[in-house]
Amino acid sequence: MRYLRWIVLVFLVLAMWSKPGAAQPSSTSQRATLFEGARLITGDGRAPIENAAFLVENARFTRVGRKGEIQAPAGAARVDLTGKTVIPALIDGHSHIGYMKNLTSGAQNYTRENILDHMRRFAYFGVAASQSMGTDFGEMPFQLRDEILAGKYPDAARFLTAGRGLAPLSEIASDNMRQAAFPVTTVAGARASVQELVPRKVRLIKTWVDTRGGAVKPMSPELYRAIIDEAHKNGLRVAVHATELEQAKDLLRAGIDVFAHMISDVDDELVALFKQHPNTVVLSALGGPRRAVYVPWLNPVHPLIIETVLPEQIARLQGRFPQRDAAQLARSTASWERLARGFAKLTAAGVKIGVGTDGGGQQGDQFLGWTMHTELENMVAAGMTPAQVIVAATRTTAEILEIDDLGMVAAGKSADFVVLDANPLDDITNSRKISQVYLRGVAIDRAKLRAGFMNASATN
Ligand SMILES: [Zn+2]
Repeated sequence: MRYLRWIVLVFLVLAMWSKPGAAQPSSTSQRATLFEGARLITGDGRAPIENAAFLVENARFTRVGRKGEIQAPAGAARVDLTGKTVIPALIDGHSHIGYMKNLTSGAQNYTRENILDHMRRFAYFGVAASQSMGTDFGEMPFQLRDEILAGKYPDAARFLTAGRGLAPLSEIASDNMRQAAFPVTTVAGARASVQELVPRKVRLIKTWVDTRGGAVKPMSPELYRAIIDEAHKNGLRVAVHATELEQAKDLLRAGIDVFAHMISDVDDELVALFKQHPNTVVLSALGGPRRAVYVPWLNPVHPLIIETVLPEQIARLQGRFPQRDAAQLARSTASWERLARGFAKLTAAGVKIGVGTDGGGQQGDQFLGWTMHTELENMVAAGMTPAQVIVAATRTTAEILEIDDLGMVAAGKSADFVVLDANPLDDITNSRKISQVYLRGVAIDRAKLRAGFMNASATN
């Protein structure tokens, strides 16, 4: 009761302070902003709201509707977004964070500073959260994840981590990022490795089941079944790197939760298995196969790349793509087309598909943040409509990653959104025409970030 008296007293003092006509607006309305006039794509797949209004208070959306319907509290700021399009901040379900630094990629770059640089790159490109898939190690990533969540770095996207993945020995090499993984050789060891991740509060366990085109012996079904079983017993889900059809089928039978990549072939049996396992989802990760055949953004180089990536790293990628060897290009084209057909088939079957970019990954020069925008275009090329792609990249991926407060512009969600100069429903590449990015209700300083990227990269 004593506390109650104090609370009432404090309340009265605050009320006097903010009475009409007082010089200082109340602290609440100082943090209220009404955004008006934009075309609003909320992320739920419904038609956009033209001439919309939405209110942000204390870093959250509190009201969403049409201009004129929503009254701002006294003292609220107003932002005119007439002519702009607003989408929820994007979410990347599959990346490898902390390794890439200009021309080098490896564990030697894996520092708190480099992870923060990467999370700021995601933010710069309108991505509010990215899931690192099994290549993190040590305690630092879990600490950094929690610090970003607590708001310590307002211009950084959320860093989600699966911690160390679980890989067979055949997948682990000193220079392939899977040096971070738990080597899995026995059922008991597999279960113990899952157990180590439980107190770190990961939401996903990452594993690899792949022959790499027949080159390596994949993880045995006995081991991946043990991983899946142990994860489920502990309320966790399992994301697998698996791209081959027969393994994908057995993983579905074994109760896998997330395919971290699109599967390279899709047949009717696979579709039927997905229908029997409606909670199993797929992350797109079309970027590798697609850029082998389609890189118009490298010639001319897109301005967003020029302003965030040093010239020598751009030049290296230009040296690889477009491919000039005709036979190789024909093979790449065939595999992209097969992948796209499978993607369309899963989309038509109603399989839940989120966005993963594999940004920062091993094929090299998968520019963090930028890959999100090429991935959106890839998904349209593979048969989704722009409207479907935006839902996949926002609400659906948030659901897959179990991030309750991201993925939509809706009352109660964190006010993370992107202001665009053009409508991505007309042309998905309009997602690149970024005017502003808001995280937790505050516009990030993109000019300052840009300067930092070009500096930080120069040190390596
Ligand atoms: Zn990956």
